[in-house]
Amino acid sequence: MSPIDLHLLAELKGVVDIAPREMKADGYLGVREDGAFVIRHRAGARQTRTRFTIAHEIAHILLAEVEGQSLNRDGNYRRDASEEMAVNRIAAELLIPELIVSREIRRDFGEGRLPRWSFVFHLAKRFNVSCTAMVLRLLELPSINAISFRVSIEGLGQHNPFCSTENKWMRLANGVDYEMDRVWRESRRTNKHQLAIALDGQELTVDCEGELREFATRLGDAKVYWLVGWHVPGFSG
Ligand SMILES: [Zn+2]
Repeated sequence: MSPIDLHLLAELKGVVDIAPREMKADGYLGVREDGAFVIRHRAGARQTRTRFTIAHEIAHILLAEVEGQSLNRDGNYRRDASEEMAVNRIAAELLIPELIVSREIRRDFGEGRLPRWSFVFHLAKRFNVSCTAMVLRLLELPSINAISFRVSIEGLGQHNPFCSTENKWMRLANGVDYEMDRVWRESRRTNKHQLAIALDGQELTVDCEGELREFATRLGDAKVYWLVGWHVPGFSG
């Protein structure tokens, strides 16, 4: 059960009806003559997608509220790309609140566990979002120093290098082995989809959008992993 009850939030914000509809768009926020809101989401969409759509439409209401804009039919309310971007950020916070996710990560990290995919899956399930959405959210949270990148490892013969504390080293795509702690400590995100690794004068910029499904594919003799990890300041674990 997700910690966030979207339907309750929608109700509190004046939404009286949420229902699927056959349409091309993901969602739609309608205003009835009496000023009540209705939300429509695309019929047949995945449940996680539908949740995002509902959060997105609620975010429109919230943003209009703080901007003092009217969403009424006769208002001259305009939606542009920057508005949609802002709304998506609000929706992400509604679905995966930073406070809650960072508390979970700090607890896990504090118990001495290493970052690992199984925990990302756990979080995605807990917040009822797709795994990709979960990873992208982790990467954009200021309070979590999370990174994602591609690592090729030869002959390890195991599926998840983070499942074992024995793997203190990782070989990055430039062929150099790095101490894992250093990678966590020194890597920096450049934006929410890119990671900059700057170690020993080598600079790598890694795109992490859209390639998560490749996280354990074979490339010649090496296994190529898409990894996600985080370093939590204040813990020595
Ligand atoms: Zn929108």
